Amino acid sequence: MSIKENLHQIKSNLPENVTLVAVSKTKPIADLQEAYDAGQRVFGENKIQEMVEKFDVLPKDIQWHMIGHLQSNKVKYMAHFVDLIHGIDKFSTLKEINKQAKKHDRVINCLLQAKIAKEETKFGLSFEDIETIIASEKLRELKNIKIVGFMGMATFTENQEQLNEEFSALNNFFNTQKTKIETENCQLKILSMGMSGDYELAIENGSTMIRVGSSIFGSRN
Ligand SMILES: *Cc1c(COP(=O)(O)O)cnc(C)c1O
Repeated sequence: MSIKENLHQIKSNLPENVTLVAVSKTKPIADLQEAYDAGQRVFGENKIQEMVEKFDVLPKDIQWHMIGHLQSNKVKYMAHFVDLIHGIDKFSTLKEINKQAKKHDRVINCLLQAKIAKEETKFGLSFEDIETIIASEKLRELKNIKIVGFMGMATFTENQEQLNEEFSALNNFFNTQKTKIETENCQLKILSMGMSGDYELAIENGSTMIRVGSSIFGSRN
């Protein structure tokens, strides 16, 4: 199927409150343009340099999401345009994003990445560490960032029961924190979980934002 057909297929089964992020990492400009022409406006990339190159040539009403693990020294290259940063797993990264956002007189939306997978390789904060960050006084000083939710990546497995457990744990944590904390720069609205292989299950477990790559653009090399 074409990119356009894939997009329509996915969107036709998507609840209204769920945002589809088209993960276009490694894919050529022409593929992104095709998705854009089919109405897609939210794109996710995992490398800052690649995202900047695509931003420069594609229409300016695209919302760019950084979904990859961040290197602080590169935040400055995307601070003027990035719409949402998903993968934050250190307070120091928030400070750097704040500093760069301030230079452009912007407030950058951020998601804290929770470690929900049992695998050793996945990045992310423990629920405890997330609670500490969002309750901290230090966070209140960062006026140019806003924490708008959490992001999680489940274990790479076919085991539905395990996926269910991982997604529902994050959903429960999200719902608890949402009612507990609401400040100027922490308003929890977005729960980013689910990829091509597991997004349906993620949505059943409360996801409001799915990050889908290969089911739209085909497999990556
Ligand atoms: C690549 C990537 C995705 C998309 O993966 P697919 O399996 O191709 O849908 C989602 N989230 C993150 C963080 C990624 O790096």
